[in-house]
Amino acid sequence: MSVSAASVVVSARGAARGAVRDAGLLAGGSGGPAALRPLVGTVLDALAVGAGERCGPLPRGGPEVVAGRVRAAVGEVLPEYGVGSGAALGVLVRALAEGAADPADPLCAAHLHCPPLAVAAAADLAASALNPSLDSWDQAPAASELEALVCGELAGLVFGGRVPARGGGRPDALVTTGGTESNQLGVLMARERFGRGVRVVCGENAHHSVHRSAWLLGLGEPVTVAAPRGVLDPAAVEEALAGVGGRALVVATAGTTDAGVVDPLPEVAEVVARCGARLHVDAAYGGPLLFSEGLRGRLAGLERADSVSVDLHKLGWQPVAAGLFVVPDAAELGVLDHRADYLNADDDAAAGLPDLLGRSLRTTRRPDVLKVAVTLRALGRRGLAELVEHACAAAGVLAGLVREERGLELRGWPELSTVLFRPVGASDEVVAEVRRRLLEEGRAVLGRASLDGRLWWKVTVLHPRVERGELAELVKLVRDAAADVAAGAGVACGAEVGA
Ligand SMILES: *Cc1c(COP(=O)(O)O)cnc(C)c1O
Repeated sequence: MSVSAASVVVSARGAARGAVRDAGLLAGGSGGPAALRPLVGTVLDALAVGAGERCGPLPRGGPEVVAGRVRAAVGEVLPEYGVGSGAALGVLVRALAEGAADPADPLCAAHLHCPPLAVAAAADLAASALNPSLDSWDQAPAASELEALVCGELAGLVFGGRVPARGGGRPDALVTTGGTESNQLGVLMARERFGRGVRVVCGENAHHSVHRSAWLLGLGEPVTVAAPRGVLDPAAVEEALAGVGGRALVVATAGTTDAGVVDPLPEVAEVVARCGARLHVDAAYGGPLLFSEGLRGRLAGLERADSVSVDLHKLGWQPVAAGLFVVPDAAELGVLDHRADYLNADDDAAAGLPDLLGRSLRTTRRPDVLKVAVTLRALGRRGLAELVEHACAAAGVLAGLVREERGLELRGWPELSTVLFRPVGASDEVVAEVRRRLLEEGRAVLGRASLDGRLWWKVTVLHPRVERGELAELVKLVRDAAADVAAGAGVACGAEVGA
């Protein structure tokens, strides 16, 4: 090795030692805020630069181009010597921001993928810095009490109107990672109630996680009943229940993922009660309508459920993850009790240390409740209601704009905030191709839904401040792309094909 090469190695090591020292500072403790402050500045700068480079709802060029840029930016994933906090944060945050699908752009509206509120993201920083873990009180003394308060309050929003409270109990909720985990808990509670022979009965409109939960818990394949108009037919549910006996869990949906429609909850609850079955309502999407006095009526009957899933990382504007599993009586959660001497010894519990292990199937668990608590307090019920109402009203505006377009067909008036439409007379291939083209060009993120034997574009409006002009731009973009694709494919748009 030449002298100069050797000295380069030595100085790289010297720099690396400094870099490692700076990267080894802690987020918590009395020095935490001072260590974090400059890094937060770096993160914010990198977010701004990355978003500016992307300049749209998602990066241009499709998967290969984006992946290539990420690989180039990352370079070495695990270098021998670290580059230091500022350099690592700057490069990787910028790369992630540049290559993001950003739901804060109103033209990014495919999925139940919300733009998080700044206040919630800021609270999440504190959750990360303090890092309480909600599997035992001695890791989360304040966070566990905050969680108990928030869960009680939100469970009251779901079941508070229920008269009389069943068994005189008080409603409660568990914090989950989202609808998937909440639905799994709903199926698990039914299995504990009825035994392994329990059958799940759901509509073909139910979320796929219902089927996965039954599979995971070793239950029989769910009985799937037709949902001819996109929602459960109570008579069909009754027939299915007669076929499987009373030991069944009916899963209804308040806000389907594809069409954003609500099952007829009062009628389904009536049938379930008559048959002695259990009812789980998957309100992962629609649940937050409860914040709105004007909209909560659309969820009438929800309070008759035995358990409910609600997500706050959809309508609720929380960074992922923020899910709730809600029950009318906290005592029912006792089936999740679990002992581990190092976390909830009997004598610790007898001495008054709260037992947290039964509040989740997970062990180590983030304080997702902090951002939720901060959001509830910052906006209040009315503030959240306004955001929910804006998203739902905007979906109505979009539906109106689509209906005014001669070349576009609206599938139905939105019940929540989902708008489905397609070009009149075009093939499914054109619908699919338009979506992919807009993704590739980085101009819009539309979803897709196969319903009534046809493929539709799906726009899920979750942006809490989207304006009419932006929705009009979206319609124009899609209409023009459809005309383009149809012309390119030699398919007439706006006229019947195959005639
Ligand atoms: C989003 C959604 C789920 C899944 O929830 P995750 O939070 O993604 O786990 C379940 N059911 C419905 C109706 C949903 O919209």
